[in-house]
Amino acid sequence: MNILVVNAGSSSLKYEVFTVEDNVYTSVAEGLVERIGESVGAITMKLNGNKDKQERTFADHKEALAAVLDHLGEHGLVDDLAVVGHRMVHGGEEYTKPTQVTEEILKDLDKLSPLAPLHNPPCITGVRAAMELRGDVPHVIVFDTAYHATLAEDAYRYAVPKEWYTNHGVRRYGFHGTSHKYVANTAVRELGLDPNNHKVITAHLGNGASITAIKDGKSIETSMGLTPLEGLVMGTRSGNIDPAIPFYIMRQTGMSAQEAEDALNRQSGLKGVCGDNDARAVEERADSGDADAKLALDLFAHRVRGYIGEYSAHLGGLDAIVFTGGIGENSATMRAAILEPLAHMGIEIDPARNDVREFNEAGTRVISTGAVKVIVVLTQEQEQIARESVELLGL
Ligand code: ADP
Repeated sequence: MNILVVNAGSSSLKYEVFTVEDNVYTSVAEGLVERIGESVGAITMKLNGNKDKQERTFADHKEALAAVLDHLGEHGLVDDLAVVGHRMVHGGEEYTKPTQVTEEILKDLDKLSPLAPLHNPPCITGVRAAMELRGDVPHVIVFDTAYHATLAEDAYRYAVPKEWYTNHGVRRYGFHGTSHKYVANTAVRELGLDPNNHKVITAHLGNGASITAIKDGKSIETSMGLTPLEGLVMGTRSGNIDPAIPFYIMRQTGMSAQEAEDALNRQSGLKGVCGDNDARAVEERADSGDADAKLALDLFAHRVRGYIGEYSAHLGGLDAIVFTGGIGENSATMRAAILEPLAHMGIEIDPARNDVREFNEAGTRVISTGAVKVIVVLTQEQEQIARESVELLGL
């Protein structure tokens, strides 16, 4: 059988198709539609090692997905389609498990849009389009917040007026859950840890970045909060700051709440400190002596390191640290910078293994020499969504 996974953003749509045989998931096609709704869009399709990119116009998500399904259909990849899995960013407090979509569920999910105004509405649009085009198969939504539903109340509540929580849902939800879950499970398996007795920290470091403490397979702390703005320094997001800063800046400059929120989401992080949000470009500038670029990377590493200390305390020890995401998977420099001062915690890495770029068949590489294992894991969010969709339906 084939599984299609769809990840719809505001003007983009990513897809991947898996074939499943004996519980082995093989990715057979993937791609991306960009600039949906603009005068010139683009569709990129990867199949059998070939990549094809075409400029085309897509009025809306339905047209984009129709083009994807046509292309997949030409190669016979959706004839045996068993389920379509969708990624949704915010599930609120109610949606903590993969959920089969019905019209009632979609209406109910609309209610969560104020919590994730940038992310949830385009996803709902994508699900509707997919259901119109392939109403003959079941559709399942997997939520990015779901894995963190196991946080205890002292980890998920903020010390703010209680009504903010009871009336407006102000609490920590956490994001990147599908990735944290996948890389944690993979690391536990590959390192031979006891699935029911382990203490692991997973650092998903990409353009968006978050870190999670996992005890015995359950998320107990995570750095993103009500929104994906909290926590680590990111490409363009500030992560943690003194909560008084936006009010101070609004008073000083006359900025509106909307402008301040936008500045913290789009003009901060690496970009705010040095002008570039792409970590690879920032590393190149730092290598050639640029002080702002070096500071941006130092701030990034400092914040991740602080969380490793904090989360080790919450876990009461540490068996393994897992790195994933574009930066976590690829930047030996960043991994070394984060971990270098942590030898006193039993965290030491082999510089040669840190520098190697190859991964084993499971998509992992162990780089530690100390008591705490350090492992790099290639994240597979789409595969995890496909697996959870299949499991939910018992296919
Ligand atoms: P997203 O959150 O958009 O999915 P990714 O997980 O793809 O992002 O991560 C993108 C980030 O990874 C970018 O900042 C990019 O520069 C960084 N990155 C990718 N390859 C490297 C590399 N070899 N060295 C340093 N950073 C890298």
